[in-house]
Parts: sequence; structure tokens; C-alpha cells
Amino acid sequence: MLADVADAADNVGILGTKPKWEVLENYQRTITQGEFAHLISDVYCTHGVPDELIKINNDAAQIVTTSQPKKVFTLQFAPDGDSKAHIPRLWRPAESLPPAEAEKPLAGLRIALDPGHLGGRWAKMEERWFQVGDTKGVTEGDLTLRVSRMLATRLRKLGATVLFVRNSTQPTTSKRPADFKELARNILIKNGVPRPRDEVLNPKDPEKEGTIRWQSEMLFYRYSEIRRRAVLVNTKLHPDLVVCLHFNAEGWGDPASPTLIDNNHLHLLVNGSYLQDELALDDERFEMIRRLLSRAYDEELAIADTVASSVAKATGLPAYQYPTTLTTTKVGSSGYVYARNLLATRLYRCPVVYCEPYVMNSKDGFARIEAGDYEGTKEINGVERKSIFREYADSVAEGLREYYSKARGL
Ligand SMILES: [Zn+2]
Repeated sequence: MLADVADAADNVGILGTKPKWEVLENYQRTITQGEFAHLISDVYCTHGVPDELIKINNDAAQIVTTSQPKKVFTLQFAPDGDSKAHIPRLWRPAESLPPAEAEKPLAGLRIALDPGHLGGRWAKMEERWFQVGDTKGVTEGDLTLRVSRMLATRLRKLGATVLFVRNSTQPTTSKRPADFKELARNILIKNGVPRPRDEVLNPKDPEKEGTIRWQSEMLFYRYSEIRRRAVLVNTKLHPDLVVCLHFNAEGWGDPASPTLIDNNHLHLLVNGSYLQDELALDDERFEMIRRLLSRAYDEELAIADTVASSVAKATGLPAYQYPTTLTTTKVGSSGYVYARNLLATRLYRCPVVYCEPYVMNSKDGFARIEAGDYEGTKEINGVERKSIFREYADSVAEGLREYYSKARGL
């Protein structure tokens, strides 16, 4: 049994821990009923909320902490907007930062960069890898790290203190897939695979996802890794903002003979849009309420909208439209931002802006990745283009410059 895994009897998500509801006492009378109800219905619980789990009355919300035995946390509302008490949080919204000079609009700000995935020798395990013919393989975790390092230079020039959640292809977690074999077996059995196989010999075998190997690898590179990054963000880095950097992709089929598509697009994510199954887990419900009460949404949505517009202008990419609205909800005014409940956007306890520009296996995206980094412009598929890495880093930096200059009145 792993020490940091909650008891099987606890009703928590994968590798989750039992929530400490008592910390929410610090948020008593810090939010009005109107604002709480708005954030619940328009941001966090857009797919509905079971009345028995969160009940909103006139002067308080009743939030179930555990269902068996049933226990309830009562959150008292602030009587009106003016009487709102100080909101406890470790990060600082733009408006509360000390004055800055116009050419250093990010002065005093702590920004953590979180390059998505691992890359390097882990890229194949992560299934964030494909290779066209004998060209160099495309590995998302290496691309995001490259952009993050370029972005760091630009943000420092604007005055920010830049921190890295990951700055190598080494995992942040000290755990490895072998540590999760037992848990992987239990999860598979619970999900209806009575006698899970260790592995399959052919990686194209559709039964792969029902093997202990595949499950334990995912527990390592996704759940354990991102939860460890959250510990780093929340207890060591203490940023005012986390920027998660990704490249998007659409199904490419066989990674050794991938399908290249015409579609290329852009979207950004902030936390929200919880599913009813997720709300039924004690830790996810708690993390949602804590996040709501910290008012991270107000800040992250405004930043995401500004960064999205900047990236859209620089790249010319159209807004991604999710094929279904089952897991996401469009928010904000730019048309590029969605709320979605991802591990990173939920667990990092500060505003989080999660960027998904470029489809790596689009014809254009792939050609630009293959072209590598260069100064100036080059003609790619008939269009003069900056290097994709510089365009990404420049446009995110420009969005942040715009947002903080305006919010700080510079
Ligand atoms: Zn990604």
C-alpha cells in the first residue's frame, strides 16, 4: 500500500487524498449568495449539480463532505458585496500587486511555467509521439519544454520572476510504473476487467488499455506526475499564475505512420465544467469549492481571454469547437476559452491558464515543427512564417504584457 494513497473506503479520485474541509472555515462570509450561485451554475457545475450534494439557501450553502455517513459543511454567505471579508489565498491578483513601471508590467509577479507531459525517453509511453517516414519524431513534451524556455526569457524581460514546474525530461514524481501495478490491477477489476493481463505483445491490440502495464504507466505519467507537480506548485513555488503549455493533436492512428490532417486550431482552458460523476467524489467536490472560493476564475478567465486573442492574432488559427459539450463549457468573450475539469487546472491553487494552440499532426503544424527554430521568417506551405516556437512564446508573452499593463493601469 502506498503511503500517499487514500483508503479504498474513501470516496476520492485516483491517487486522491481525503479532503480537509476545515480549511474552508477561513472562507466563511467571504462570498455573497449571488456570486456563489453564479459561479456554481455558469462555471463549475454547468452539467448540473445533484441537489443532495450542494444546496444553496438564502444565507448559506450546505455542502456534503461525506455521503456515508452523511456529513455536511455549512458555508455562510456574506450579507452583501461591500461586507465581503478578505479572501484567503497565497496568490495575488493583478490589482493587488505593487506599482510597476510601464516597461516592466510583470514586475513583482511570480509566473510558473508548466510544460505539458515529459518527452524524452518517456514520450512513447505517454503516447505523445509520432513519426512521419524517416523525419525526426514529434514528441509533445519536448516541444512544450522548448517553448517554455523561450517564454521564460521574454517574461523575465518584462519583469516577472519565472519558475519552472518542469525544466527537463525527467519526471517530477519519484514513483515509476512498477509502483502502481497493484493499484492498476484493482482499478481494472473495478472497471469490469475481472482478470487483467500483464501486457499485450502487439501495441496495436485494442485490448492494450485493459492491461496492468498500460494502466500502471498512466498512473505514473499522468496521475502521479501531475499530483506531484501540484505539490510543487502549492507548497514550494507559490506562483501568482501558472501557464500550462501544450500542443494540440487529433487522432493520428499509427504513430509510425500517422495521419496528417487539414484542421489546425486554437483553444485555451480554465477550470470548471465538472461532471456529475466528478462532483460525487469527495476530493473533487472539495477542490472545486475551494477553487471557487479563492476566486481564481475571475483572474484566470480575464488572462485566458487576453492571451487567446493575442495568440489568435499572431497565428491566425480559428477557435477549436469541441465536438460535444459533454465535458466542456465555452466561457469568456474571446471565443477561444473553455472551462474543463483537468487535474492541473483543478489542483494548482492559483489562476491557471492552459494553452492548446496548433494541431501537431495538421499538415501546417507538422511542417512548421519540422522546420525547427529559426530567426526571421521562412516560407512554409506558401506562407511566410515565424518559427512556430517563437510565434507561440512571443504571442503568449504579448498577451500577458497586455493583460498586466491594463490591469495595473500602466
Ligand atoms: Zn498536451
